[in-house]
Amino acid sequence: MFILLLGAPGSGKGTQGKVLAERLGLPKITTGDILRAAVRAETPLGREAKKYMDAGSLVPDSVILGLIKEELAKPEAQQGAVLDGFPRTAAQAELVDRTLAERGQRLNHILLLDVPEEELVRRMTGRAADEGRSDDTPDAIRTRLQVYQRDTAPLIAHYAERGIVKRVPGVGGVDDIATEIKRVIGR
Ligand code: ADP
Repeated sequence: MFILLLGAPGSGKGTQGKVLAERLGLPKITTGDILRAAVRAETPLGREAKKYMDAGSLVPDSVILGLIKEELAKPEAQQGAVLDGFPRTAAQAELVDRTLAERGQRLNHILLLDVPEEELVRRMTGRAADEGRSDDTPDAIRTRLQVYQRDTAPLIAHYAERGIVKRVPGVGGVDDIATEIKRVIGR
């Protein structure tokens, strides 16, 4: 089973994705974590990605499409996965759809974590103090929210046509949200 977590930055995709992946015994693929690890290791990918990430922009598809292909090709991702942080653009969505279709698979559920913008800003600003993420600065936060609305939110309509988008309120306790997700996907 392939489950996509969709939602604005700060909506809790990482937190809920982890709970969900552990509960269902699925691997979680998180492009943001992969990119941050590459930045830390100062690999060519990391050096290329860092400037976009720090600004709050998307890393270009020319870089990300290869990364997505590689991740979906891994043995542990053959039977299912929780996708966190991608697809985030139309081109990424096309690649994911096509790759799964070629294997006779598809995205089974798309969970849209719904959180009001003031709460998103509050969470990201708080996280900046705790985790020191270099893209949790006020300017980068603003850009990330704009980029989400412009490039990623249109994917909701793309997938809604297939009737697989489930909206989940993303405000409340972590356990309550996880319970709602369980209810919505029926397992
Ligand atoms: P958030 O959802 O809070 O923005 P992520 O960890 O998903 O956090 O992403 C952090 C940054 O990593 C993004 O702002 C972007 O620069 C980069 N990134 C992550 N995933 C992708 C992706 N699929 N396509 C392009 N850029 C990405």
